[in-house]
Amino acid sequence: MNETPHLLTRLAHAGVQPDPAGGAPSVAPPLHLTSTFARAESGEAVDGLIYAREANPTRRLLEQTLAELEGGVAAAAFGSGLAAVSAALMALRPGDRVLIHQDGYLGTRKLLDHVLSPWGLSYDVADLRDLAAAEKAITPQTRLIWCESPTNPSLHVLDLAALAALAHRHNARLAVDNTFATPLLLQPLALGADLVMHSTTKWMGGHSDLVGGALVTARDDDYWQRVVSNHVLGGGVAAPFDCWLLLRGLRSLGARLTLAQQTAGVLASWLAQHRAVATVHYPGLATHPGHAIAAQQMKGFGAMLSLELRGGYDAAAQLARSTLLFTQATSLGGTESLIEHRAGVEGADTQSPPALVRLSIGLEHVDDLSADLAQALSAL
Ligand code: PLP
Repeated sequence: MNETPHLLTRLAHAGVQPDPAGGAPSVAPPLHLTSTFARAESGEAVDGLIYAREANPTRRLLEQTLAELEGGVAAAAFGSGLAAVSAALMALRPGDRVLIHQDGYLGTRKLLDHVLSPWGLSYDVADLRDLAAAEKAITPQTRLIWCESPTNPSLHVLDLAALAALAHRHNARLAVDNTFATPLLLQPLALGADLVMHSTTKWMGGHSDLVGGALVTARDDDYWQRVVSNHVLGGGVAAPFDCWLLLRGLRSLGARLTLAQQTAGVLASWLAQHRAVATVHYPGLATHPGHAIAAQQMKGFGAMLSLELRGGYDAAAQLARSTLLFTQATSLGGTESLIEHRAGVEGADTQSPPALVRLSIGLEHVDDLSADLAQALSAL
C-alpha cells in the first residue's frame, strides 16, 4: 500500500470514516441536521460544537476532506461559490488591490464591481498568460492575484507556479479558482498558490443538485483567520444537507471526471475539424496555446471545452438552441452534458467572445454526443 494513496483512491473514500453514532459504525457519513448542540452539565461545549453556523459535524467532515484533497491545512465550506469568493476578497482590506486575469467567471468580476469596489477594494485586469504584463499590472497596493486555470469560458491556461512566485515577490498572495480542474487534475497549492477556491456546485457536487463553494488554505495565518471570521460571521455557510450531498458527489468524482474528460478529448479533436467551427478551446489539443503548461501542471485536461463558430454570434446562439442531448442551461460539471452561448445569456456585461459556445461534457456515450453536435452543426 502506498504511503499516500492515489487521488482516485482518496476520492473513493472521501469522508468515509466509520461513524459509531447510530450504534453500529456506519460506513457512509451520517447527516447531522441540527441547528444547535446541547452543552455538557458544566455548560462547556462538547467537542467545540455550539451552534451550526459556527460548525456542524457534517460540514466539518467535508472541510477536512476538502483540505486533504487539495493538500491544504484547513478549508471552509460556503453556501455558494460566490460566497466563498466574497469571504476571500473581504479578508483583504479596503484600499488593497486585486489583480485578475482578463478571462474568468463573470460573476467574480460583477462581485468586484457591484459589491467590493464600493466597499473599497479595487482591481486591475491583465493578460496573466503574459508574465511581463502581469508584473507591470502589479501596484504597491496589490495584495492578491486571483485567477482560474483553465478559465471560464475561454479555457486559457495560466502558469500557476510562475504566478505564485510573482505574487510572492511583490508581497501578495495567489488565489486559484480550481472549479474547472478539481483537485483530481490540478493541485494549485502544490504549485505555490496560497488559496484555492471552488464552486462545488460544479464537478465536485457533480449531479446538478446543490449550490456550494469552498476555500482551502495553504497556511493557517492572519489572513485565513479573517476568512474564517467572514465565513461564520458573514454567515454564508454551507447547509448540512448540501455538505452531505457534496461528500457523496466527491466519492465518484474520479470516475465521473475521468470518463467525461476522455469524451471531451475525442469531441475536441472532432470539432476542430468541423467546417462550421473556427476554433476549439481545449487545453488537451496540441494546438492550444497553453497545452505545454497544462500538460506540465495538470494530470488531465478536464471535461470543459468551448468553441467559436465561423458564423459568429447568431450561429453560436443557434447551436445552443439546436442540440437535443446537450441541455441548454447555465452551470457545468453534472452527469448530463450542457451547452451555453455565454455572450447571449450574459448580456451587456459579457466578456465572452460573441461566437463562443461553452460545453460541459457529461457521462453520455461519446457517439451520442458527437451525433447530437453533428446534427445541430449541420444546420449552420
Ligand atoms: N467560479 C467559476 C469558475 C464558476 O464557473 C462559477 C459559477 O459558474 C463560480 C465561480 C461561482 O459559483 P456559484 O455559482 O456556486 O456561486
